Amino acid sequence: MNSEAVTVAALLGDAAQRLATALGLDSRTARIEARALAAHVLKVEPVWLLAHDTDIPNAAGRADFRGLLERRLAGEPIAYLTGWREFYGHALRVTPDVLIPRPETELLVERALARIPLNTGYDVLELGCGSGCIAISLALERPRARITAIDCSAAALDIARGNADRLHASVEFLTSHWYSGLDGRQFDMIVANPPYVVSDDWHLAQGDVRYEPLGALASGIDGLDALRLIVEGAHLYLRPQAYLLLEHGYDQAEAVRALLASAGMASIETWPDMAGVQRVSCGKVSA
Ligand code: GLN
Repeated sequence: MNSEAVTVAALLGDAAQRLATALGLDSRTARIEARALAAHVLKVEPVWLLAHDTDIPNAAGRADFRGLLERRLAGEPIAYLTGWREFYGHALRVTPDVLIPRPETELLVERALARIPLNTGYDVLELGCGSGCIAISLALERPRARITAIDCSAAALDIARGNADRLHASVEFLTSHWYSGLDGRQFDMIVANPPYVVSDDWHLAQGDVRYEPLGALASGIDGLDALRLIVEGAHLYLRPQAYLLLEHGYDQAEAVRALLASAGMASIETWPDMAGVQRVSCGKVSA
């Protein structure tokens, strides 16, 4: 093929085929990934590519695209290559300093919003905010709520602050290792999507997660170290009638519910994500 005359369609078709083979993607996902990378390089919306499939990108554009494609073929996540990921309808900046927001985490946002009043003040704490996706989504839907978000990573907090500023979300960000920097503060709700993967889980050596911060993923031999610490410490920071909402692993619902019960919480519930996995659990301070 004459490399001077490669159309958008040919470039994308070739890239999608290589992505499918190298990463074991189905052909639809491979095409979506190829378009996402090309759109990023050419600074256009993915849909532009469909309308311009006979255009011939210039040499610089082609070279940039091939550079990014090679990195993706080697396994780097799309979100880190483009620097963006959409969550709850918001475009968030992401780098390898933060976990890439997952669609199932939107369930945590939905269940939290169902409990945060629209028209009165309400103090919400997010533990381990990473990119800030949860805290920012809550702040944008509930402007009267006072949202505080902590993380132990200064690099993550930089990303989260940038995201909040860009999206005009009012969130107070603090450096804290779980509760360590929150002495004396009280909240009406605590939410967290903490690390919950078993430390030697083979998934951690597969696919996109290899590039994500291990401290945001892995949490001890049963994956429950962070969840235990959060549940056991919560009573000091929660007001009467306050809620604790937690995302957890596919097989941890029962363990998390037991933790919530032994911390004296009532109205314990678990909800499935869109894949049918028991994914988010909630408890309420009874008195
Ligand atoms: N759901 C993520 C995964 O399995 C884990 C996120 C987390 O540990 N909070 O890759």
